Amino acid sequence: MERMEATIKSGFHPRTLESGEVSQLLQGRHGRRLMKSFRQEGIDLLLDQWIEPRLSFCVKNVLFAKNGTVGLTGDVELKSAKLARVLRDCKTAVCFVATIGPTIDGVIKQANAKHHLTESYLIDKIGSAAVEDVVDTFQHLIRVRVQKKHEGVTYRFSPGYCDWPLTEQKKIFSLVDTARIGVSLSSSCLMTPRKTVSGIFGVLPPGHVPYNPCISCRNTHCTARRLHARLP
Ligand code: SF4
Repeated sequence: MERMEATIKSGFHPRTLESGEVSQLLQGRHGRRLMKSFRQEGIDLLLDQWIEPRLSFCVKNVLFAKNGTVGLTGDVELKSAKLARVLRDCKTAVCFVATIGPTIDGVIKQANAKHHLTESYLIDKIGSAAVEDVVDTFQHLIRVRVQKKHEGVTYRFSPGYCDWPLTEQKKIFSLVDTARIGVSLSSSCLMTPRKTVSGIFGVLPPGHVPYNPCISCRNTHCTARRLHARLP
């Protein structure tokens, strides 16, 4: 894939209402209750106001991926044995930061202030699902693009999950232009707005099957296990 850098600011519509996890949440018992309570204003309109998807990404060459380290152009080394195995056969990798913006943070705060805890919980979950849907949609777009050359994409990883330390967030932020999408990183590696996801996935050469590290992982307490998940 040619080198490219881009910021997606608008005209980018995640499948938040038609499909994906947000849709499932809204169809559940609490979701139906929330929709009822917002009937006057219209939940679709509200979600449009709350969710402002933006994503910034860059494509880097993978110089090496072995011995628990991934070397990328830009003099960046990512420390994760699982990620190194996942990216082992990749020549390029896509680093991204995606957000749904700050509005939903204020909505959750307001609901908490009014002690509307169920509402706040659900909106929080919707926010988390929405930002995951943004990344799913983005990864799907990249997958469709690379498939034209019979390439594929790997599973994606985010700092703070699996064996990849949260402090590695700084390295992703050193590669991706996050100021353009209004995302910042605190000294303790927390992202603002809250509903923001950063990460990386690789581009696999033709004929390679994506490696899923969860299949053989012995960490029984992990909540991020991807045993049956299909790639977006
Ligand atoms: S089960 Fe969890 S710890 Fe194990 S490889 Fe998957 S994400 Fe990583």
